[in-house]
Amino acid sequence: MKPPGADTVLVRHADIGVKSGKVQAEMERRLRDNIEAIVRDRDVDAEVERRWSRILLHADAESVDAATDAAADTFGVRSASPAAVVPAEKGPIVDALAGTAREYADAAARGDEDLGDTFAVRARRAGNADAHPFTSEDLERDGGAAVFEQLPDPEVDLTDPDVTFSVECREDEAFVYTEQRPGPGGLPLGSQAKVIALVSGGIDSPVAAWEVMKRGAPIVPVYLELGDYGGPDHEARAMETVRRLADYAPNFDTRVRKVPAGDVMDLLAAEVGPARMLVYRRFMYRVAEHVARETNATGIVTGEAIGQKSSQTARNLGVTSRAADLPIHRPLLSMDKSNITERARRIGTFRDSTIPAGCNRIAPDYPETNATLEIVENAEPDDLFERAEEAAANATLVDI
Ligand code: ATP
Ligand code: MG
Repeated sequence: MKPPGADTVLVRHADIGVKSGKVQAEMERRLRDNIEAIVRDRDVDAEVERRWSRILLHADAESVDAATDAAADTFGVRSASPAAVVPAEKGPIVDALAGTAREYADAAARGDEDLGDTFAVRARRAGNADAHPFTSEDLERDGGAAVFEQLPDPEVDLTDPDVTFSVECREDEAFVYTEQRPGPGGLPLGSQAKVIALVSGGIDSPVAAWEVMKRGAPIVPVYLELGDYGGPDHEARAMETVRRLADYAPNFDTRVRKVPAGDVMDLLAAEVGPARMLVYRRFMYRVAEHVARETNATGIVTGEAIGQKSSQTARNLGVTSRAADLPIHRPLLSMDKSNITERARRIGTFRDSTIPAGCNRIAPDYPETNATLEIVENAEPDDLFERAEEAAANATLVDI
């Protein structure tokens, strides 16, 4: 529910607020740029402005919803509210709150949505203590009375209301809103160094990549083309999921490095028994490390979770990780598949991850679940790491 005449979006940032002044200012500028990039990418008619420690989007009645969505899809944003702007005077503020409540009551009468039963009015004043001839309490009291007059059967609940009519009063403008659309939180993309994202086209890897993007790290997507063990459908899934991720980062380079690995897969299938998947993982990390060197990335992110597959037992993760010097980030480490799936749906990568992809199975029938470094090193081809270097050197860039 928006106040009548809402044409502005009030954006709140997330972890930026805990930074020192200089870092915070830098991150706010970055956040501003990133919101603007998404706004432009979606053709939303809105101007982005950084004011105080907030970001505002100046839109109009038609575009304010899309502008709110754009802000709420930007990493580093805690929440975004479509708001009406009124003069910072008690009369207009109280009128705006009452008008919002009327809109609300009308929608309730039409049975439009599940609107809730309990209400609160919240006011916040920023700026000098003597900037206004009224206090926040004055606004809450008079605003509250005006709001409740409009509602058919109002019940006050100040601790956990279904609907909060809010006003944020600045020096000469006040913002009236009810909705706080949640954003992803985190930090603005680009405020951290790049990481390699190993993307397979499965459900997990795009979620893992999204999680590090949320913390500000741009990704360099790497896809291993597995020949008979992958194939065009497999590849299409991987590219589609990266395309979804790119929607969150239109001002970043998210082209995919496609690495030829069919020959190596054939070799592993022919020559390596129970430790095959572990050897494959070690190859993959080595490839990622070479791409990292080339692209100035500082780590590798994967969609692995403890115990999800035999190659991901706690012990096997320990052994495979030793193939790489760079840290391997596993944001899904502790998550259950159902939670990962739910998150994939929310961020929009789920559908593409589940396009059927017919391909041969590379996993051995009796996989090793309790490997040691010795077992794996004895099982792997002597030139595995040279092959990884060569494969990485033959990577092609795929525009998505
Ligand atoms: P996902 O984990 O993405 O759902 P999956 O379950 O098919 O796909 P796993 O076997 O669980 O893949 O692989 C674990 C992780 O290894 C993936 O999350 C991904 O980060 C990486 N990975 C697997 N296969 C590939 C590939 N062909 N190219 C790049 N990375 C890959
Ligand atoms: Mg997986």
